[in-house]
Amino acid sequence: MLDEVLKHIAKRNRFLLTSHARPDGDAVGSALACCQILRQMGKHADVVLHDGVPRIYQPLPFADGVVRADCVNGNYEAAIVLECDSIQRTRLEGLENHFLISIDHHQSGRPFAHVNWIDPYAVATAEMVYRLARQAGVPISSEIATCLYTAVLTDTGSFMFEGTSEHTFALARELVLAGADPSRCARNVYFAHSTAKMRLLGAALSNLHRDGPLAWISVTQEQMEAVGAREEDCEGLVNYALSIKDVEVAAFFRELPDRRFRASLRSKGQLDVAAVAQVFGGGGHKCASGCSLDGPLSAAVERVIAQLRADPFVQ
Ligand code: 5GP
Repeated sequence: MLDEVLKHIAKRNRFLLTSHARPDGDAVGSALACCQILRQMGKHADVVLHDGVPRIYQPLPFADGVVRADCVNGNYEAAIVLECDSIQRTRLEGLENHFLISIDHHQSGRPFAHVNWIDPYAVATAEMVYRLARQAGVPISSEIATCLYTAVLTDTGSFMFEGTSEHTFALARELVLAGADPSRCARNVYFAHSTAKMRLLGAALSNLHRDGPLAWISVTQEQMEAVGAREEDCEGLVNYALSIKDVEVAAFFRELPDRRFRASLRSKGQLDVAAVAQVFGGGGHKCASGCSLDGPLSAAVERVIAQLRADPFVQ
């Protein structure tokens, strides 16, 4: 399928690259790296993200060139959608009129594009972008390596999630040899939190619930406003609940401005949280998934926790 992707890239010259709304490290890092790889191939390429680049990823090379937009503006021959399993999740209007190439590593990945390269065995979409560059004969610059390394670092939970293997470290080694600085990448992501995020964490943890192998926390819009937190400050809070000994699955519920709730689910590996998120129209991976639900908070929590409790592993 990689050959097919390269064949379609070779035929065209103007590309838009995008990923899902509220982009994470793999979404941003893969899109930035892929954009640069296409430019090295002599193509015109732009990264367009509905929500722009979250603060912790702004130090990444080329991040300042990302276009923040609600719709496609410009004349593109194809759009490459990275780390995203549908057109809807990009929240970019006008994408549907383009020739679409999907590059994704989600287990719940769907073949929505004209060309779909989906590899659930890749630890991050960045791993696939790295393969694309190698196959295309594009040298990995230190800037591209930094984007890809940050994507792999974040999507493997700092090389801790299931699926991390000797291949992941071999990839990381290649990226470090190409110029990624592991300590600088980690510092930008893990030692760059806003004060508001830490205050929000306090609010979330003061509302920690435990039930056997399950733990869950939540924040409301009111709590977010009280500490001045942004949406992106919620990223990673679920991991604090998962870090508790004997907790196998953790959930984080966040109230959205429209009063619906986002659930972020994380598993230490025994329970497949992608399957649970899919019940509510979401998706993701076995160990990390998400979905949206109607409020009120108590009802959203009840539905997700009941679904988790129904898993034979929890019973
Ligand atoms: P997070 O909890 O960080 O928002 O998402 C965890 C993982 O689940 C990510 O890989 C993300 O792409 C995926 N994910 C989160 N929400 C959704 C959703 O609503 N639909 C799908 N298909 N995947 C989701």
